[in-house]
Parts: sequence; structure tokens; C-alpha cells
Amino acid sequence: MDKKNKNKNKKSLLMSVIVLIVFIIIIAGIAIYYVSKDEEKDNKVLAYTDLIKEISYGNIEKIEMTVGSTNVKVKIKGGEEKRAVVPNTEAFIELVQQKISEGNDFELIQKPKNIITQIPAAILSIFPTLIMLALFIMIFKMQGLGEKGQVYEETERKTRIRFKDVAGLDEEKGELIEIVDFLKRPEKFTRMGAKIPKGVLLYGKPGTGKTLIAKAIAGEANVPFISMSGSEFIEMFAGLGASRVRKLFDKARKLSPCIVFIDEIDAIGSRRTSNSGAETENNQTLNQLLVEMDGFSSEETIIVLAATNRPEMLDKALLRPGRFDRQITIPTPDLKGRLEILRIHSAEKRLSDSVNLESIAEDTAGFTGAELANILNEAAIIATINKHEEIENADIEEAVKKVTVGLEKHSRVYSDKDKKLTAYHEAGHAVVSWYLPTQTDVKEVSIIPRGVAGGYTMYKSDEDKYYISKTEMKEKLIALLGGRAAEKLVLDDISTGASNDIEVATKIAREMVTKYGMSENLGPIDFQGKEQGDMLAFGENIGDKIGNEVKALIDEAYSSAQKLLIDHRDKLDVIAQTLLTKEKINEQEFQKIFE
Ligand code: ADP
Ligand code: MG
Ligand code: ZN
Repeated sequence: MDKKNKNKNKKSLLMSVIVLIVFIIIIAGIAIYYVSKDEEKDNKVLAYTDLIKEISYGNIEKIEMTVGSTNVKVKIKGGEEKRAVVPNTEAFIELVQQKISEGNDFELIQKPKNIITQIPAAILSIFPTLIMLALFIMIFKMQGLGEKGQVYEETERKTRIRFKDVAGLDEEKGELIEIVDFLKRPEKFTRMGAKIPKGVLLYGKPGTGKTLIAKAIAGEANVPFISMSGSEFIEMFAGLGASRVRKLFDKARKLSPCIVFIDEIDAIGSRRTSNSGAETENNQTLNQLLVEMDGFSSEETIIVLAATNRPEMLDKALLRPGRFDRQITIPTPDLKGRLEILRIHSAEKRLSDSVNLESIAEDTAGFTGAELANILNEAAIIATINKHEEIENADIEEAVKKVTVGLEKHSRVYSDKDKKLTAYHEAGHAVVSWYLPTQTDVKEVSIIPRGVAGGYTMYKSDEDKYYISKTEMKEKLIALLGGRAAEKLVLDDISTGASNDIEVATKIAREMVTKYGMSENLGPIDFQGKEQGDMLAFGENIGDKIGNEVKALIDEAYSSAQKLLIDHRDKLDVIAQTLLTKEKINEQEFQKIFE
């Protein structure tokens, strides 16, 4: 087994060398290109107008031109050589000859095309072709190697990730520990006559730690981790998908006991519908996967883990007994989970005592593990830029805002009218939500542009909730439309600044009607993603009816927002004015205004 591995290592080494060489060629080419460009730039360029001036002042000693080139070399009297670009060579030559005939004494040298100076240009012009060629060679090499099962599957013989590196997810880990046990001591289970699970499907949003937990299982059991991603198949040449799957499992059999991880399995395992084109290819791949999973016997200790964030897309055949008969949902972390994730990822970072990870965890409901890790990394960058000795709490808070709303842009210039509009828009959101019982408190209102937003109103994050009530959704609509309503009320005009609010509000209203059955008139029916034919079952004008219900919800919310703002116009004005002078209002200042 060791020999085989060495062999494989050699091949992957060869592959790396090829990739490296191609890379060096590309980089070198780009470097040469830029250097030669820069040379032209740096080499004392004389603007054309200046050249004409110098000529008419009689400051020129010699002009050297090459036929067919707009670049000229100019020697200034008693000075150095400069370059210039001449827009129209014929007119220029005429001008120069006229000057000479007028008695100016300087030389005009016209050289024939210089082959040597043409060479770099020639190389540059075939460069794209060379790159293409290199890429083609690479692809063919990869295919060749891939046939031997080398490229697309990455083998990590020993991953060092353990369950302790996976924060939160206690129940999920509890369920998976059994798999670890089985990988370590399969005979213990088989002696009992226990049927060993073959496949475990992990459902969850991107960044929730599916790959991480799969690696941790391999790490805990100390077995090889072989992985590939379903999306690789999409770009692959026809017919290769199925053979790739076969190779993957051949390899797994040799390395058994081991873990096979298939990421984004929905890319190969999506529901089989018709027999057309790309889908036939997909079907072959999927069929091969099913054959392989049915094929391995109980002596082969192989566990197939697969991950997807679109479980509804999967072909039912994948979920049958003996295949992925276990399904585990990996949720976005709750408060405790977020705190643990923040702790794990800040362990090797320099945090100041001011940092309050608990409050950061509270502010980040709905964030995935990957996003939290990213926030801490951003915070480290922000701290460095701010020349802090350690990461301060403010750096992390800034990172949260950067990730959620984008970066603050102090440089964007704003007209007074825009500023007033933004101030009233944001004040509108903030005032309206203050008077809505289900809406969370305002954390910060700002008219400093961030990312694509001209201003923003940040709310304290929702406690982790499983259900959202109809009242809450209706009030959310009111809060969203508060910005637009304020613009209309105060400036008697409306702007494009509300487009995102409108988009979100429409989506919520639509889901209330078609997904959550919250419309009185239409009742609790799921209208989502139905084909036209299926929709007809609900009556001919069902589309219109849904549209009307959505519109009614939006209209109602908009007039509620308007009414709240008219009733509390004084508060709206105070907040908008404060924003115009201070640009930002925090939670305490905001509450003070209302008290
Ligand atoms: P997924 O496969 O679900 O898209 P990953 O496992 O690739 O997510 O997670 C990406 C990164 O996010 C991980 O490498 C890790 O740094 C971080 N992460 C996600 N979830 C967790 C968690 N529960 N504990 C610690 N880190 C996590
Ligand atoms: Mg992943
Ligand atoms: Zn808004």
C-alpha cells in the first residue's frame, strides 16, 4: 500500500511541476509585457504638444522615426533623448520637413522597419495563443491523470481535524460519533449482525460546517478522507462523470476503512426528470453512484458522507435504504454555538480585554460558522489598519457591519438634497419600528454610505426564533416601508433609494400568501413553485388573486407606516435633523429622543 502511495505522490508531483511551469510562463509573460510597457512610459515621454513646441522653439537636434511606427525618438539640443508618440505620422513628417525648409537646423532620420524591435511585439501578439495551448495541454494531461483517479479526488490520509474543532452542533456530533466508532471497530458491529450505515447526508446552508464535521469524523476515526465535489462534474467532458465515480470508489475500496465525502451532491444527484442532453449525462453519473453504493459489501468499511444545501433537489433514489438513509440537518448556529465558534476562531488571534464575544454572538443571529470566522479575520485586518496593538471590540463590531452592510465610504460626495432624503428615509425606518411592538430595537442609524447603501438602520438582532408570526411579518413590512413613506411625507417626492426595501417587502408579502398560507382569502395553500398546469387546479384567475393579496398586504403596510409617521412627525424631524448634523445615532441616543 505504501508503494502505491509513493507512486501516486510521484504523479501528483509531476502534475504540480507542470502546473508550476505553466504558471511561471504566464507570470513571466505578464511581467515582460508590463515591464516593456513601463519602459515606454518611464523613458521620459514628451507629450505631442510639447514636441511641437520644442520644434517651433528650435530646441530639437534630431528626430528619429521608424517607418510604420508612431513612436519617435527625439534628441533635445544639449539634452537627453526622449520619446514621443505622434498621432499622425504623415502630417508630422510634413510639418518637420516644412520646418527644415524654413531653415531650422535639425535632422530627420527615417529608419526602415526594424525587425529586432518588432520581435517583442510579435511574441506578445502570439502570447494569448501560447496560453491557450498551455491550457489545452494541461487539460489533456489532467484528463489522462484523472483516468487513473488522480486529480479530482483529494486524499487526505490523515486529517488533523477533530470534533473539538467543530463548535456547537452537539446533537449532530452525538449522532455521528457512532460512525466514528464503526470506522474504528467494524467487527464489533458486524459480530452483532448490525447493518452498518452506508451513507449519511448532511443538509445545511453553505458555511455551516458540513465539510468540517465530515473531516472531523475521519480525524476522530483516524481513517483516510477522500473527497470530491459534485460541481466538478458539471464542467466535465461528457461520459467522464460515471467513470470518475467508479474510480473514486475503486480507490476507496483500496483505502478502506475510509470516508468518501461528496460535496454539493445535488449537482449530480438532482431529480431525474427527462432524458434530454445534459441530464442524461447527469443520470449516468448518478446511476453509477447508486451502483457503487449498492455494491460495496459489509467487509468494506466505507462510509459515504454527502453534503447539500438543496435537499429538495435530490433524487429520491438516493434516499432509499442502503444508500443515504441517514439524514442530518446542520443548522445555522444558535447563540451558544456562535459564541463557541467565535471562541475557537479567536483562539489564535490577539484579542484585547475590551472584546465581549458574548455581545458579538448576540448581534450575529443567523450568521454561519464560515461568516463568523470571516468576521474575526476582517476584525484582525481592521485592527491592523487602525494600528491597534490588539483586536478591540470596536474592530469586531466594525467587521460585523462591514460584512452585513458593506464598508463605510466617507469619501462619497453627497448633495445636501441627497443627504436630507437619506436622513428622512432612515429616520422613517427607525421611528416606525420604534412604535411596532414586534420589531427589535434600533441599534444604530446612519447616513454615512456603506457598501451600496446610502445610509442604514441597524436593528438589534432577533433572538434565535423558530417561528415568525403573521403580526410580526406584517409589522416587518411596515418597518421596511417606513423609509419610502417618510420620503413621500416630508419631501413629497420619492427616490430610488427604497428599491431594496421594496424588494424585501415584496418577497415577504409574497411568501406570506404563497408559502405560509397567511392570506385570509386564499387560505393555507402552498402555491409556491407550481407549474402552470397545477395552478389551474386552483381556478383560472389564481395568479391574479395571489397578486391582489400581495398588493393588499403591501398597501396596508404602507398606509400604516404613513399614519405612524404623521402621528409622530415631531420625532421624525428630530431624528432626521440629528442625523444631518451628527451623521450617526447610536442606541442610547436614539432611546433618549423618545423619552
Ligand atoms: P460547509 O461545508 O457547510 O459549506 P465548511 O465546513 O466548509 O462549511 O465551513 C467553512 C469554515 O467555516 C470552516 O472551515 C470553519 O473555519 C468555519 N466553521 C463553520 N462551522 C463551524 C463550526 N461549527 N465550528 C467551527 N468552525 C466552523
Ligand atoms: Mg463545504
Ligand atoms: Zn430603506
